[in-house]
Amino acid sequence: MFWKKDKEKKEERSAGVNRSFQDFLKAAHLEMEGLMVQDPRWFYNLPYQGAMSLEKAKNLEIEKRAIWRRVIYDARRTQLAGLRWETRNDELVCPDCQKMDNRIFSFREYDILNEIIMHVGCRCNLVSVRE
Ligand SMILES: [Zn+2]
Repeated sequence: MFWKKDKEKKEERSAGVNRSFQDFLKAAHLEMEGLMVQDPRWFYNLPYQGAMSLEKAKNLEIEKRAIWRRVIYDARRTQLAGLRWETRNDELVCPDCQKMDNRIFSFREYDILNEIIMHVGCRCNLVSVRE
């Protein structure tokens, strides 16, 4: 029985150390499904809507979320000093994101940053802070 436990631990470790982008996409997909249930009209309130189909917008939202999480994950893995929250700085930025504009999350704050759920339609970025 011990070997199984060890094997599980080893899998957890390797998943923790070397998560593939597919893993991030899977998690982002679940997160997006949850957000869509919370706001069934999500598609009609997008700041970037344009001529995009609902399916395309959903995929964009999932990919954006996966990238966001991976940026945090990579920052931790590479011991980056910090990540700066950057909005698009236009009239479409929501009040919650406006409050975050230029906020720097230090290495020790990555867990806090990772707990924030990006709202649907968010166009913010995380920028590397090296010192
Ligand atoms: Zn935002």
